[in-house]
Amino acid sequence: MSFEELNLHPSILKAIQEAGYTTPTPIQQQAVPELIAGHDIMASAQTGTGKTAAFMLPALHALATPAQIRSRGPRVLVLTPTRELALQVSEAAKKYGKYLPRINVVSILGGMPYPLQNKLLSQPVDILVATPGRLIDHIQRGRIDFKRLQMLVLDEADRMLDMGFIDDVETIAAATPATRQTLLFSATLDNAIDKVATKLLKTPKRIQV
Ligand code: AMP
Repeated sequence: MSFEELNLHPSILKAIQEAGYTTPTPIQQQAVPELIAGHDIMASAQTGTGKTAAFMLPALHALATPAQIRSRGPRVLVLTPTRELALQVSEAAKKYGKYLPRINVVSILGGMPYPLQNKLLSQPVDILVATPGRLIDHIQRGRIDFKRLQMLVLDEADRMLDMGFIDDVETIAAATPATRQTLLFSATLDNAIDKVATKLLKTPKRIQV
């Protein structure tokens, strides 16, 4: 299967070509069509499988269509267990979205100064990448409008569980529209992850690579 067959927006294909990718990885081949069709997914995939592009390419594809709801808030929210992973996801969003007009990517991470984050959040945001603890603070202060949120991605959900972030993740999900598409990525899909998926995902397609 080629990237062309995945029916992604031409500007995204251009960025993929520029990155030097010739063939979608197995998780990309399985996840991208499900996500473009609007399904929720839960996927078991380790780092190195191309899982970031597996969710970021369809996320950017969705952003290529103008938002129906007027708001400055994020249209895509990615939650990650660590700052390093959040920064990698932000970089990927910028790299794959560079030929789409005006995709604003903002990272909200623990340890960063609040005034800077308040400033970032007062501007229009398309993709918000965050660690759960700090994001909760901003939500509780009423600084984020999730009215136009279309997609929620839980990246490395097993690590968020292990690190004790899962209550925060559920609180954040509850602040977003029920109409959202939800994606869960985890190295393993065990009972604990199944419980989270049952609460937050709607009849997800399971993907294993
Ligand atoms: P990830 O599993 O998301 O951490 O990605 C691992 C690495 O694979 C990253 O450095 C990506 O740039 C790279 N990558 C992702 N998709 C592809 C692809 N289809 N072909 C070649 N490299 C890729």
